[in-house]
Amino acid sequence: MTEVSVAKEEVAATGELVVLKNVNKHFGALHVLQDIDLTITRGEVVVVIGPSGSGKSTLCRTINRLETIDSGSITIDGNPLPAEGRQLAKLRADVGMVFQSFNLFAHKTVLENVTLGQVKVRKVDARQAEEKARALLDRVGVGAQADKYPAQLSGGQQQRVAIARALAMGPKVMLFDEPTSALDPEMINEVLEVMQQLARDGMTMIVVTHEMGFARSAANRVVFMADGRIVEEAAPEQFFSNPRSDRAKDFLSKIL
Ligand code: ADP
Ligand code: MG
Repeated sequence: MTEVSVAKEEVAATGELVVLKNVNKHFGALHVLQDIDLTITRGEVVVVIGPSGSGKSTLCRTINRLETIDSGSITIDGNPLPAEGRQLAKLRADVGMVFQSFNLFAHKTVLENVTLGQVKVRKVDARQAEEKARALLDRVGVGAQADKYPAQLSGGQQQRVAIARALAMGPKVMLFDEPTSALDPEMINEVLEVMQQLARDGMTMIVVTHEMGFARSAANRVVFMADGRIVEEAAPEQFFSNPRSDRAKDFLSKIL
């Protein structure tokens, strides 16, 4: 390998992965995302917090093009989001998403949930896909559930399968939209622990959550949103001990 290509790889390994520039979106008269500028560096863990209705979910959904934007630009790894077809399926594989409501395929087994996308989108052969799926299911602690259907699993187990399914696609970045909000309290930690481990392993992550313990321990940066805007961005220790904006102070006083 030449020196030039090594240098290039180093740039790629530390570079900007997700870049939103001046993004605006409306739902009718509602200006739900307002002049959003946000850059996520490879390996970074960004926690997005803010009051309900501030646009956090919409922000996540625009990044894998579940929602279109009205103006501005979004790039993943330097490429603009594709509009449709095969390229869009590939984007959705590159940008793994975990929702509050698990969204597993109800009529497929756990194992099938984690192999399908690999075979269809990534064109991995069936045996290899199964091997990877089993390894990932083991990694998130649900290897023994591989042949069950989602409804036979607890919420915490289903959410861990959803994480394994996204990881099976070899994503460049993982988006989590309130992944523990629908879980019974005793199951929250088993999901957060999987996410903590993922963060430690160097995965680039955007996490919308009200779990401030996770934000403190795993986030490199906290992004605080209100009314469709990014109001404040800071390292977690700074944000939690010394928020600058009145909106953030008010929000923190209600949740902490
Ligand atoms: P958050 O995740 O921060 O609670 P959302 O992004 O879900 O906020 O929603 C932001 C605002 O956009 C809310 O007022 C919500 O009602 C509105 N909204 C979200 N999705 C749609 C939609 N598909 N059509 C119309 N309004 C929407
Ligand atoms: Mg939301």
